[in-house]
Amino acid sequence: MLYCIECQRSYPSDPVLHTCAACGAPLEVRLTPEELARAGTFEGRGVWRYQALLPVERGVTLGEGGTGLDSCGMSGSRPGLVPECGSGRS
Ligand SMILES: [Zn+2]
Repeated sequence: MLYCIECQRSYPSDPVLHTCAACGAPLEVRLTPEELARAGTFEGRGVWRYQALLPVERGVTLGEGGTGLDSCGMSGSRPGLVPECGSGRS
C-alpha cells in the first residue's frame, strides 16, 4: 500500500504512482509485518535484493545500487564519530 507522507491518503500499490493525487507530496510504501515475513531474506547486491517487495517484475537494470562507501578522513571527527573500517560496500 502507498501512503502520502503529507496528508496520509492511501493508494493501492502501483509501480508508476509516485505522488499524491490530492496534494502532490511523495508517496511511501508501508508494509505489514506479514508482507515483510513473506519476503524472506534479502541476499545479493543492489535494489533487486528487495525484489520480493517491489511492485514490479525484474526489469532492465544498469547494475544500480551497492554504491561503495569511501572514507572521508575527518568528516566524522567533529561530531565525535569513530571511523569504522569495513568492506566499504553497502
Ligand atoms: Zn497527499
